[in-house]
Amino acid sequence: MDFELTTEQKSFQSTVRSFAEKEFRPYTQILDRLEDRSEEIIRRLGELKMMGIAVPEAYGGAGLDSVSHALALMEVSRWCGHIGAVMTAHSLYCFTMMTCGSHEQKIKYLLPCASGEAIGCYALSEAGAGSDISKIRTTAVRQGHEWVISGKKEFVTNGNISSYCVVAAVVQDREGEKETRFFVLDLKAAPGIGIGSADDQVDIPAFGTSELVFEKAKVSEGALLGKNNDGFGKTLSSLDMARVGIASQAVGIGRAVLEESVRHAKTREQFGKPIGSFQAIQWKLADMATELDAAELMTLKAAWLNDNQKPFHKEAAMAKMYASDVTMRASIEGVQILGGHSYRVKHAMERHIRDAKICQIYAGTNEIMRLLIAENLVKGN
Ligand SMILES: Cc1cc2nc3c(=O)[nH]c(=O)nc-3n(C[C@H](O)[C@H](O)[C@H](O)COP(=O)(O)OP(=O)(O)OC[C@H]3O[C@@H](n4cnc5c(N)ncnc54)[C@H](O)[C@@H]3O)c2cc1C
Repeated sequence: MDFELTTEQKSFQSTVRSFAEKEFRPYTQILDRLEDRSEEIIRRLGELKMMGIAVPEAYGGAGLDSVSHALALMEVSRWCGHIGAVMTAHSLYCFTMMTCGSHEQKIKYLLPCASGEAIGCYALSEAGAGSDISKIRTTAVRQGHEWVISGKKEFVTNGNISSYCVVAAVVQDREGEKETRFFVLDLKAAPGIGIGSADDQVDIPAFGTSELVFEKAKVSEGALLGKNNDGFGKTLSSLDMARVGIASQAVGIGRAVLEESVRHAKTREQFGKPIGSFQAIQWKLADMATELDAAELMTLKAAWLNDNQKPFHKEAAMAKMYASDVTMRASIEGVQILGGHSYRVKHAMERHIRDAKICQIYAGTNEIMRLLIAENLVKGN
C-alpha cells in the first residue's frame, strides 16, 4: 500500500497550486472583483489543460488520471469554490461525452471543451425532477433524420456560458416504451433553444445557474448519446466522477477554512492569551483537521478506484457525502472560531460556508447519497 502521489501527480499538483495562489490570492476577500475576471481565469485554466484533465490527449485533454483531477479541484477550490464548481460542471459534461460518446461525437463535441476552447454543461434537473429524476418531462421525438426536443431544464451550472450541453430527455420507442436518454447539443447552432439569464444564486455567483428552454429544438439524429442497449443507468455513471469532483471541491474549501481558523486562533488574543491556547478552540481545530484528512483520503481512494478500473459508485457517493458534511461542519466551527469577524459579507469565511453548503446539495443531495450507499450495502456491493 502506497500513500505517496506519483512524481507526475506531485508535479501537476504543484503547477495547479502555484496557478491558483497567483490568480486567486489577491481576490479572496473581495470576490466581486473576481467575478469580472472569471472568464479570463477559465480561459487560462483551458490553456493549462485544466478543463480536460482526465480526458485523453486524443480528445483535447491533458491525458492525466482521476487522482490528478481530484488534486486540481482541491487546489482551485481552496482558493475559489466558485471556479471549482464551474470546473466540476464542465467536467461532468466531458465525463458524459467520454462515457457515452462515439469517436465522431467525441471529436466534434468533446475535443473543443476538453482543450478549453469551449465550455460544456449538463442539464438533468427540471422543476418537477430534482432528486427524483424519473419525473423528467423533457421529450425527444424522432422525426425523420432529426430529433425534436421540447422541455425546460433548470439549475444548469455554466448554462449561460456554454457552447455545448448534454441534455436528458424522455424518448418513446415504436412499442410505446419510454426511456430517458442523453443528447448532446450545440447550444449556439440548434434552433429553438432559449438560454435564461443566470439566476440570482446564493452560491456560485461566478456565473450562477441558468434555465435552458427547448421549444421544438431540432437536432440531428447523431445527437443521441450511448448505444441502443445502454440503459439510462450507464449514461448516468458520469455522475460518479462528478461526485468525486464535488468531494474534492469540499476538501479544498475545508482546507481553506482550517488554515484561516488556525491563523486566527494563533493571532487573536483574548483574556491575555491567543484564543488557540483555549482547549475549547483546540478541540474544534483537531476535529476539523482529522475529519478533513479522512475526507481527502476517501476522495483520493474513489478517484484511484476509477483509475484502476474498479467499481467506485458507492465510494464516490461516500466521499461526496462525507467530504461535504465535514466541510460544512468545519465551516460552522470556523465561523465560531473567528467570532464576529467572520460575520461580515465578503469575508472569505462567509463565502466558504456558502460554498461548503452547496456541496451537500448538487449532483444528488446527501440524503440521496445515503440512500444510494445503503442500497449498495444491501445488495452486497
Ligand atoms: C447551485 C446549483 C447548481 C446546480 N447545477 C446543476 C447542473 O449543472 N445540472 C443539473 O442538472 N442540476 C443542477 N443542480 C440541481 C441539483 O442537482 C438539485 O438541486 C438536487 O439534485 C436536488 O434537487 P432539488 O433541489 O429539486 O431538491 P428536492 O429533490 O426537492 O429535495 C428537497 C429535499 O428533500 C430531500 N429528499 C428528496 N427525496 C428524498 C428521499 N427519497 N429521501 C430522503 N430525502 C429526500 C432532499 O435530500 C432535499 O433535502 C444545481 C443546483 C444548485 C442549487
